Amino acid sequence: MKRLSALLLAAGGAAAAHAAPPHYDVVAKFDPEGKLDADVTITLSEGEAEKAFLLSDRFALGPMDLPPGVTMTAEPATSPVPALNKYMFRFAAPTAEPVRLRFRYAGPINTEHDSNNKPLRPEGYELFIDHMWFPVGADIQTRFTVDATIDGLAPDLVVVAQGDVARTPTGVRIHRDFLDIDLPMVAMRGLQRAEAHGVEFYSRDLSTQLSGWYVKHAEGAARYFEGFFGPLPRKVRMAQVWRPGSMGYARTAYTVVSEGGRNTPGITEFNPGRYVAHEVAHAWWMLAGPLTDDFWLVESAAEYMAMRYAEAKLDPGEREKWLAAKRVAAASAGPVMGHGRPTGVQLYQKGPLLLADLETRIGRPAMDRLMVAMAKEPVHTTAIFLDHLTAIAGADAARDFDKALHT
Ligand SMILES: [Zn+2]
Repeated sequence: MKRLSALLLAAGGAAAAHAAPPHYDVVAKFDPEGKLDADVTITLSEGEAEKAFLLSDRFALGPMDLPPGVTMTAEPATSPVPALNKYMFRFAAPTAEPVRLRFRYAGPINTEHDSNNKPLRPEGYELFIDHMWFPVGADIQTRFTVDATIDGLAPDLVVVAQGDVARTPTGVRIHRDFLDIDLPMVAMRGLQRAEAHGVEFYSRDLSTQLSGWYVKHAEGAARYFEGFFGPLPRKVRMAQVWRPGSMGYARTAYTVVSEGGRNTPGITEFNPGRYVAHEVAHAWWMLAGPLTDDFWLVESAAEYMAMRYAEAKLDPGEREKWLAAKRVAAASAGPVMGHGRPTGVQLYQKGPLLLADLETRIGRPAMDRLMVAMAKEPVHTTAIFLDHLTAIAGADAARDFDKALHT
C-alpha cells in the first residue's frame, strides 16, 4: 500500500507540473485569388498571468469574444519580422480550466516580408512561420499541437504537412499530436513521392540527380545519426520546392529544400549530401529558443553533425577544406553568445568550428558522448551543454569552451 500511494503521489506531481501544451484548432479558407480567411482557436491549459501572440498586420482581426477575466491589448510590432500586430492577453484569475482564445481574421496570403519565399506561387502554396499567417506565440518558441481544416485547395495540389494529413475534395485535414512552433505546409501541383528509410520525399521530378542525392543522403544521414542518437523519432517528410531562393528549413519531422541555386549543371554530390544531412540532423537538434543566445545548439550543432556525416560517408578529405573555409569566415564573426540570437555567420561558420575545435581538444569519443548526452535533453540550453561537458571532459574544457562562445 505504501508503495502504491508513493507512486500515485509521484504521478500526481508530474501531471500538475506538465499541463497540456497549447492546442490550435485552425479552420482556414484559401482563395486561389490570394485571400486567406481564418478562424483559429488557441486552447491554453497552463495557468499563466499573460500571453502574447504575433500576427501579420496584413490581416484584419475581427472582434474577439474574450473569456471572462481575460483582457487584451494590441500594438504594432516589428520583431522578429516587420509589419506585425502583437496581441497581449492578461488573465485576471488563473484557474485550472483551459482558456480559449478565438482569432478570426482575413487578408492577403502573400506578404512582402516573406524571407524571399512567396507563400502563393503559380505552382501552389509554401507556408511557414516567417509568413506570420497564424497567431504565433510572441516568444517564437511556443510549441503546440494542432487540428487544421483547410479549404480552398484545388484537387491537383499535393499537400505535404506534418502529422496525419488527409486530403478532402476541396482541401485538407491535418492532425498533429506532436509539438512544434510552426504550422508549415507545401501544397503544390506535380509533386511526386518517393520513400526510403527515415524519409518521405516529394519533388516535381524524382529522376533528377539532385532528387536522387537528396533521397540517398536523407536516408544515409538518418541511419548515420541513428547510430549516435537512437531511432529517428519520426519519418521526415521532405518537400523539394522550386523557387529562386535556396533557403531550406527543418521542423519536427518536416523539411523543405529548394532547387533554387542548387540544381546547377556542375553540381557535385558533396554539397546536397551535406546539406540534406544538416536538415536531417535537426530531428535531434531543434530544441533551443530561436531568439536566444542558445540557438547555436540548433544550427551549429546540426552543421557540425552534417560535417561528421560528410566526412564519414561522402569524402574524408572535405573536413580540412570545410574547416579552413569556416576559419576564414569565423575570424571576423564576433562572439556567438552574449547578444541574443547569433548571426548567420556565428551560427553556421563559427559555432560549428568551435565544436570541431572542441572535438580536437577532448577527443572524438568524448565529443560523441557529449553530443549523445545533449541530444537526449528535452530542452537545449548552453548551461546544460556545459554541465555535460564538465562531467565528460572536466571543468577546464567547459570553462574554455564557454569563453570561446563569448569571444
Ligand atoms: Zn539548420
